[in-house]
Amino acid sequence: MIHFVGAGSGAADLITVRGAKMLGEADVIIYAGSLVNPALLDYAKEGCEIHNSAHMTLEQVVAVERAAEEAGKMCVRLHTGDPCLYGAHREQMDLLDEAGIEYEVVPGVSSFCGAAAALKAEYTLPNVSQSVIITRMEGRTPVPDGEKLRLMASHGCTMVLFLSTSLLDGAVEELLAGGYSPDTPAAIVYKATWPDEKVWRCTVGTLVETAREAGVKNTALITIGGFLGDAYDRSKLYDPAFTHMFRKGTDE
Ligand code: SAH
Repeated sequence: MIHFVGAGSGAADLITVRGAKMLGEADVIIYAGSLVNPALLDYAKEGCEIHNSAHMTLEQVVAVERAAEEAGKMCVRLHTGDPCLYGAHREQMDLLDEAGIEYEVVPGVSSFCGAAAALKAEYTLPNVSQSVIITRMEGRTPVPDGEKLRLMASHGCTMVLFLSTSLLDGAVEELLAGGYSPDTPAAIVYKATWPDEKVWRCTVGTLVETAREAGVKNTALITIGGFLGDAYDRSKLYDPAFTHMFRKGTDE
């Protein structure tokens, strides 16, 4: 049994209780060294065999998982954030299926949640946006035609761009062509929840120069939308006049 564990977005104490317990029990840990905070390895027991997947191919990762399984060792594959987003997770599960090795998945706090915390923001404000588009600028990994950034931008909703900070020139062109106005609020969140977390607030029109001046190229998310502004409606749920299943409203 291989345990895929979401490490969370950065801070070592943001991993789930279940994930931390598994790290403590593991005989073998394969962690994504490019993005996982190495402080998480402090949860490992003495003598635990540790591999950094940043230097490994998919086949090498699966070979380590396979060897651990054959030796009856407890193996944790530690992914940054939650494995379900840009985690190259499925391809590992498929190879494990082929090898007849069982696995389970322990979710983690994705960096887009860490970024909202850093911004002290809510992505889904009434009368501003009720949807979050999580996407990326096309780079070496192609993006399907129906999901090109320009099309996604046409919705005008809250957007979180992964893996795009080094491609911002092209991304901003697409965001503007899609329909965001240059004064739409935006923010760059670097290393959300890490000790050296940084936030730059700007607009879509000033994203490129903000990133350039900050010198930020990776480990950052770009967030875009009116949720970063001041105007929104209060929720119905907590409106004193609103009646619902658990509370009777007043007319006041
Ligand atoms: N599975 C991860 C994402 C992996 S893709 C998750 O759920 O967060 C790697 C990209 O995620 C980076 O290029 C960057 O855009 C973003 N990222 C990961 N950790 C981050 C963090 N702490 N702060 C800001 N962006 C982060």
